[in-house]
Amino acid sequence: MQKKILVIEDEAAILGMITFTLENEDFLVVGVENGQDAQQAVAKSIPDLMLVDWMLPGISGLELVRGFRRSAATRTVPIIMLTARSEENDRIDGLDSGADDYITKPFSTRELLSRISALLRRAEAFEGSTQPLLAGEIKLDPLAHELTIAGKPVKPGPTEYRLLFFLMQHPNRVYSRGQLLDYVWGENIYIEERTVDVHILRLRKLLKRFAVDHMLQTVRGIGYRFSISVGQ
Ligand code: CA
Repeated sequence: MQKKILVIEDEAAILGMITFTLENEDFLVVGVENGQDAQQAVAKSIPDLMLVDWMLPGISGLELVRGFRRSAATRTVPIIMLTARSEENDRIDGLDSGADDYITKPFSTRELLSRISALLRRAEAFEGSTQPLLAGEIKLDPLAHELTIAGKPVKPGPTEYRLLFFLMQHPNRVYSRGQLLDYVWGENIYIEERTVDVHILRLRKLLKRFAVDHMLQTVRGIGYRFSISVGQ
């Protein structure tokens, strides 16, 4: 089935270039120039992926992404932020707001397409799992896309959800940052390893609210492990 991509970009030339590139690859493209139009487009039909420009008139890209992550309908839609800035803090802010990836302008069409297909593949892989996972008080139901801790519903960001999902599927095993990038973010995604730490921190903060953060363990010099038993 044709995948629908919503592109939110106020620079007409860039929007035109992206639309042309994606339509050439048989994607269905909806292009809008501001956040308000994006929200209306999403209310009409949920896209399979969104490209969100950072600097937008009115509602900023960052606010827009945060809003999409708060809404049940768009919580799991993969989002790539387009940014003209390359400062580390902005990237972290972008990922922290709930974006799955970012691309710094100017980017090549090849890079854009490879990031998009990696995220779409990843989304499909996670849709394919059906067995609920249990670890102590934590229950993750991939079919319902629900996470509960001690019976209370918890709403992690999409990357935190996939990270937890992966770690719960492979308990007691230690994964390096590079391995987590490959397994959780997908191969062919070019993200720095410290991005993993950002999402681990977010996930740990969330688990801490329920006093189960001890399950997400740092193994010094190696990486991370998920385990019900208290680690060293
Ligand atoms: Ca812009």
